[in-house]
Parts: sequence; C-alpha cells; structure tokens
Amino acid sequence: MGARTRRRRPPAPPRGDTEAAMDTPNKETTPGTSPAPRRVKPKLVVDWERCKGCGFCVEFCPKEALDLSGDFNRKGYHPPVVDDAKCVGCNICELICPEFSIFCKDAEGAPARKGKEPKKTHLAEPLLRMDRMPHIWCPGCGIGTTVNCFTVALSQCGIPREKIGLVSGIGCTGRVAGYVNLDSFHTTHGRAIPFATGLALGNPDMKVVVYSGDGDLTAIGGNHFIHAARRNMNLTVILVNNFIYGMTGGQTAPTTPIDAKSSTSPYGASEPPFNLAHLAETCGATYVARWTALHTRQLTRAMQEALNKKGFSFIEIIAPCPTLFLRLNKLGDGLSMMRFFRDNSEIQNGADTRSVAIPYQGKIVLGKFVDKEEPTWLDRMNNQMSKSLGTRHVPYGAPKKEGEAKS
Ligand code: SF4
Ligand code: SF4
Repeated sequence: MGARTRRRRPPAPPRGDTEAAMDTPNKETTPGTSPAPRRVKPKLVVDWERCKGCGFCVEFCPKEALDLSGDFNRKGYHPPVVDDAKCVGCNICELICPEFSIFCKDAEGAPARKGKEPKKTHLAEPLLRMDRMPHIWCPGCGIGTTVNCFTVALSQCGIPREKIGLVSGIGCTGRVAGYVNLDSFHTTHGRAIPFATGLALGNPDMKVVVYSGDGDLTAIGGNHFIHAARRNMNLTVILVNNFIYGMTGGQTAPTTPIDAKSSTSPYGASEPPFNLAHLAETCGATYVARWTALHTRQLTRAMQEALNKKGFSFIEIIAPCPTLFLRLNKLGDGLSMMRFFRDNSEIQNGADTRSVAIPYQGKIVLGKFVDKEEPTWLDRMNNQMSKSLGTRHVPYGAPKKEGEAKS
C-alpha cells in the first residue's frame, strides 16, 4: 500500500451543536484550585482492517483531526487518518466508532492512572469476545456504538462482572448477547424478558440486562414488556429502536412512524407507532430515558444509572439502520442519520412522556423522563407473604447478613 492520501472531509458541522450533542467534557478549572497534573496526550490508533468507513469519527471529531484516507483496507473501505497535531485525545471517536477500530492508547511514559493498567486497546475490548469479531452489523449501523457505551457503563457501574447477566432475543440487536464477555443468553424471538425474569428471580443478587431491538421487545415480546414493567421486575431493558425490523427483512415494526416506508408498507406506514417512553412509564417503569447513538456520553451515564436502579429501568436508543430503514426511505447512510440526530434532537429532561412521540423525520425529544423509587415485584411478594404468614415467611431474595449461610 502506498502513502495514505486524504480522500474527503464532510462539511464541518456547526461546532457548538456537535459539542452539545456529544456532551464534550467541560475543561474549565475552578478559580483557586490547583491545576490537575499535566496530562500526557494519548496516542490515537486506527485499526485499519476493522474499519468499515462509516465516517462517524471524521464527522464528529470536535477538533477536525480526522479525514477518510484515499486508500482502501482489505474489505474495501476507506479508514481514517489522524492529524496528531490536532488530536487532543478526547476519545469521542473511540466511543462513537461502531467497529471498535479507532482508540486512544496511553502514550509511552504517561503517568500511571490510579489503580489502572496502561490503556493499550479499544475501551470496549475488555468486555467483548474479540475472537467473534468482526461483528455482523452493517457499515453505519448504530448498534456497535451503543455497545461501546454499554461497556463503559459496565466498567463504571461498580457491579462485579460475575453479578451481571445479559439476555437478548432475535434480531440485529439480539446479537449483542453473543459479543459481550458476560454470562449472556441469546434466546428466542420476543422472549428475552421472560428468560430474563426467570434469571433475575432465581438469582436475586444479580443485575439482569435485556438488550434487544424494537421489533423483538415491543411486537413479538410486547406483552412481556408491559407486564414486566407493571410488575416492576428488577430488570434493565436497553432497547435499540431503528424504526424497522432489520435482520428479518425490513418489515413494519410497532415503532415505524406514519408515512415511513418498509418492505411491508411500500406506500408508507399508516398505523400509529408506540411512543415507547410513554408506554414504559404508564406500565410502571421506575426509570425511563431516551438517547440517540450520537449522544454517547449521555447514553453511557443513563446506562450506568439504569444498571444501579432497583426495579424496571428502560432506555430507548434511537439508532440508524442504513441497510433497511434509511435505504427504503431514501434517507442516505448511517452518517446522514447521525447528522439528523445532531440537528433535530432536543434534550428535555423530565419531559411529560405523553409529549415525546417521534414523528417521521421530525424533532426527537431526548432525556431522562422518569426516575422514581417503587417496590419491586419481589418486595411486594415478600410483603404480601409476611402479611399473611407473619414470621413464618422467610423473605426470599433479601440481602444476606454477615456470616449467614448461603441457602
Ligand atoms: S468510526 Fe470507526 S468504522 Fe467508522 S470510519 Fe471511523 S474508524 Fe472507521
Ligand atoms: S440490517 Fe439494519 S439494524 Fe441490522 S445490522 Fe444492518 S444496519 Fe444494523
């Protein structure tokens, strides 16, 4: 391969908008406090062969430090090249890259980070089964980006890895269960929540996560979704909503907006879609948030909060499906949709979920909508049994006291 030449850089976005969408950390220091120790800038590395040339990193780098190369990798994509002088090591590209192919590596001689090994790989790698890569998701699909956020949330949530189980159903997002390096279950279509309910009730000290798509969880699995929320089962449900069935051929989903085309609605969908945030809240979810695949830092924070929430926590992630939803609707590629998210999202934390329905190609309201405390299904069951049986009832799933034998 000859010298890597630059190919193109898409038109620069309005800087303020991109930084707001990506929630770039505020670097101001408080007057009177001593400055943090001098940081050695990490080195940005591109794994040339993993890249699928989606352009997310190039478009959303706040310092315009990346360009797509004019050269091809072996898969025929144009990976990015880095201008080291411009890169500040913010790792926005690392978090948004759906292929885990661009990452910040600790520079030689950088001061050791408290209790941590020097970082040498992509941030998601320690929590993924890298022997199964490359993953099956299409170039420009947003699912890989959501997995990045999930792995960061997992590593920061404080729950030991052996106490977390992940369950998914069938579909493109359902493949997450096969890629995470956790106890995970790839189950049958629509039935992720019943499997997860069994896992959570049989292991009440575990955090059980359901990670699946909109079709799987709210069409075939719709009944399970509403009842798990009504019962306040101790589950975290992460739903990737790309407005269509992906893996099964682009059929209309319960989330396909009116007027949007699919393989089963070639003249445009006519059925009103679910407003999933409202559905989850009215059924009883104790935590409800919605972000897009572009809002990586907010999404990571939401995942961390949901993982630490007792009861039914629900995160809806709006993500591009370039191969079906975008192609059938002639809306461009994954990058076009990420730009759409940047230009058409409005953050309204605490918004009334009745007002957050997503119209076709309209404004997308994002934020944390619900965060409250309610007894879980187990709490209610134990209370009810104690009310009837008094001290004869030994509460099931209560945290063990010091020295108490494991039953
Ligand atoms: S985000 Fe990742 S896959 Fe997309 S162009 Fe950049 S390095 Fe390649
Ligand atoms: S079909 Fe759509 S949802 Fe499935 S991997 Fe491809 S882009 Fe992603």
